[in-house]
Amino acid sequence: DRLVDAQVEDEEQAVEAALRPKQLGEFIGQPKVREQLDLVLRAARARGGTADHVLLSGAPGLGKTTLSMIIAAEMGAPIRITSGPAIQHAGDLASILSSLQEGEVLFLDEIHRMSRPAEEMLYMAMEDFRVDVIVGKGPGATAIPLELPPFTLVGATTRAGLLPPPLRDRFGFTAHMEFYEPAELEQVVRRSAQLLEVHTDPEGAVEIAGRSRGTPRIANRLLRRVRDYAQVKADGVITRQIASAALEVYEVDERGLDRLDRAVLGSLLKLFGGGPVGLSTLAVAVGEERETVEEVAEPFLVREGLLARTPRGRVATPAAWAHLGLTPPQQTPQ
Ligand code: ADP
Repeated sequence: DRLVDAQVEDEEQAVEAALRPKQLGEFIGQPKVREQLDLVLRAARARGGTADHVLLSGAPGLGKTTLSMIIAAEMGAPIRITSGPAIQHAGDLASILSSLQEGEVLFLDEIHRMSRPAEEMLYMAMEDFRVDVIVGKGPGATAIPLELPPFTLVGATTRAGLLPPPLRDRFGFTAHMEFYEPAELEQVVRRSAQLLEVHTDPEGAVEIAGRSRGTPRIANRLLRRVRDYAQVKADGVITRQIASAALEVYEVDERGLDRLDRAVLGSLLKLFGGGPVGLSTLAVAVGEERETVEEVAEPFLVREGLLARTPRGRVATPAAWAHLGLTPPQQTPQ
């Protein structure tokens, strides 16, 4: 239940759907991806065929699901949404594939988490629009070939490197989604504020964007919390002051660090003089599980240049001292 978690929460699915851009022209940021995808889709439309399979790689909350829906909308095609973990058996995949309509977009989120047999079935489906359905068991089992209508697979993964090369190679187009620039997130906030009918002044949007960790999903979530605050404590208008007061209540600082991030950094600086210190020791000092520190807090701290993972342990950077307003200890001559 972290406010700055980039994974989607169940109860925010509906509001997220309402905030999704519907066309490529409405999609903010990612200029390279937009330009390339625009060409892929235009060419496919001109040929009157289906678009090539598309692989989208990037961190959670950067717009992969949104882009898959845009691809379908731009192609005037229906879309089916599923995910790797939902496909445990090859049969699950066979039944989805065999019920696709011609030209349909199949969005497969977390494609790297599919089971091996399903993955192998997908190779053939992507390449030849055909699957072999196995009927029966043991020596009497037979493979019945099944023709599929042409479709477009849109796969999403947090890292393209996690995919086996044969799967990666079957995508005609791979797009790497980057974290968003502050100016792009400002646009996201302004657009969402308009859709939610909240009045935001430009400085208020800047304040929210700066704390959103490069991620539209987090920007939208912070906006909703700031909106609550503005309605309860002020006249409903989001100014810089209201945004910063609201996010102080939720313990999200100017750089987007939350309580956990600051606890990790604070311990590293105050208890261990900035390190190096081992992960387990640091986790005990913070009172968290090792995995929580390593997987939840550290990636963002590393990305922000506040913490470095070295062979000798975790080390704070000069920026970390500055961010927490602390002075590094004097280097003692060796
Ligand atoms: P992912 O599938 O990568 O986890 P989503 O596509 O679900 O991310 O996007 C999360 C939220 O962020 C959605 O509400 C979406 O509207 C918003 N969003 C993502 N990318 C953009 C963008 N480029 N412009 C505007 N809103 C965006």
